[in-house]
Amino acid sequence: MTGALAFEPPAPVLAPVDDGRAFPVRRIYCVGRNYADHAREMGADPSREAPFFFSKPRDALVTGETVPYPPATRDLHHEVELVLAIGRGGARLTAEQAEACIWGAAVGIDLTRRDLQAESKKAGRPWDTAKGFDASAPMGAIRPGPAPQSGAITLAVNGRQRQSGDLADMIWSGPEIIAHLSRLFTLAPGDLVFTGTPAGVAAVSPGDVLEARAADLPALRCAVTPAA
Ligand code: MN
Repeated sequence: MTGALAFEPPAPVLAPVDDGRAFPVRRIYCVGRNYADHAREMGADPSREAPFFFSKPRDALVTGETVPYPPATRDLHHEVELVLAIGRGGARLTAEQAEACIWGAAVGIDLTRRDLQAESKKAGRPWDTAKGFDASAPMGAIRPGPAPQSGAITLAVNGRQRQSGDLADMIWSGPEIIAHLSRLFTLAPGDLVFTGTPAGVAAVSPGDVLEARAADLPALRCAVTPAA
């Protein structure tokens, strides 16, 4: 067989910055259960657990105004999260060093196929199909500078509030999360870290409009479109 396939290299993934620049994305890490009220609603004990991590492919990022309803689920959930953008990498960082690696922050949604996640948990299988599917990571514009450490984090569906918390209620702070993560992976510029969600996760349907906010970061608004 001769190499006749035309090969298109994958496009870089760029996250918008609120000053008009673009942030090239390298990896997307996510932390599980980082607000006590959400840990409780998922049936876990929030008091004794070190942060744990999963990831999404970088091209799962959605920066436009629509997000397609994914296949293979009947229970797509929203999880509003503070997202940290890493501008300087490293491994085995202290929390203080980790804080200096934060380039900016944004609000994002960790979309989750909750039905597939429940099956994975029950069978002791990986979460990739529940968490790392196409278009599973809508994110608003990044604001450069230190990440907010307090302030409301909310998500509304069709104008009705579903999730409400405060960034100050995160079990592990942004720098602490990055420090833990850096013991497992060498971090590098372009990494994004979704930092967990407060209580109130629930299902969304095609046609719903999601509006996510965290402190005074640029808001994220996207409409869920029917499956292609
Ligand atoms: Mn999450």
